[in-house]
Amino acid sequence: MILIDGNELADEIKEKLRIEVSELKQNGIHPKLTVILVGDDFASKKYVNNKKMACEYVGIEQGMIELGVNATEEELIMVIRKLNSDESVHGILIQLPLPKHIDVYKIINIINPNKDVDGFHPENVGKLSIGCEGVIPCTPNGIMKLLEKYDIDVRGKNCVVIGKSDIVGKPISMLLLRESATVTVCHIETRDISNITKQADVLIVATGNPGLITADMIKPGVVIIDVGINRNEYDEVCGDVDFEGCKNKASYITPVPGGVGPMTIAMLMENCVKAARGLENKGEKKYV
Ligand code: NAD
Repeated sequence: MILIDGNELADEIKEKLRIEVSELKQNGIHPKLTVILVGDDFASKKYVNNKKMACEYVGIEQGMIELGVNATEEELIMVIRKLNSDESVHGILIQLPLPKHIDVYKIINIINPNKDVDGFHPENVGKLSIGCEGVIPCTPNGIMKLLEKYDIDVRGKNCVVIGKSDIVGKPISMLLLRESATVTVCHIETRDISNITKQADVLIVATGNPGLITADMIKPGVVIIDVGINRNEYDEVCGDVDFEGCKNKASYITPVPGGVGPMTIAMLMENCVKAARGLENKGEKKYV
């Protein structure tokens, strides 16, 4: 079994970006990401802090706008419109989840797609589905980079994705299709999941259920990408896959933590730098 090291690749990518950012600065371009945080959710604050540390390392300036938990949709929209027209801001990130009274899809729609460094705007989602260049969501992009780094070719392979969220399951399915994988997407309503997971050459799990995938559900030699971030009964961070049970049956496996998580942040940094260079949204069709 080969352990897929997300920390190592994320560090390599951030190091390259750090050099790129210092060159951009010499040419008068100062990449800037502004994060909007609504409310005081503990986990969100932690994620925002991780992003801030990565920005500091890479040399991206980080703006922070904090709104109270009772902020209205209109207030948030006004803030986004202001950032859209602020030329010093290249990336806008709205930390999710938003409080329940705010319609997240309405809000995402307001962001200038060129500054949408999460890749959640419908224009970027559309470009991803038809194989045009656009901003790619960070977690799925990070997964594809890990597969590439470890020379795992998905062309023609049975790739099974568990989870169909807009953030992970759907975009990773699209990216795998781009690379001509045969993709099966499972979710909470899927019947007899283990019958499907046993066919997987590559298994990508993003559900938020610790220990969902066990050794009896996989075939020998499978590549396992565990996206889940959960807490186990000992309050330790763990994924959706029973790592200890599956590791010796898999050919490659990502650990949690240290697998997909660090890549998500590295890809966010990459999206910010691309946005600052104006490279992200040419819209050319590149994939069939
Ligand atoms: P989500 O709640 O939006 O979606 C979960 C998906 O899993 C749904 O499509 C649901 O149908 C499916 N699902 C739930 N239980 C299932 C079950 N028992 N069997 C089959 N399918 C099931 O979640 P999300 O935002 O996609 O996140 C999923 C997990 O990935 C979470 O643990 C989250 O913390 C983690 N995550 C990690 C990163 C990272 O950087 N590593 C990024 C985003 C999300």
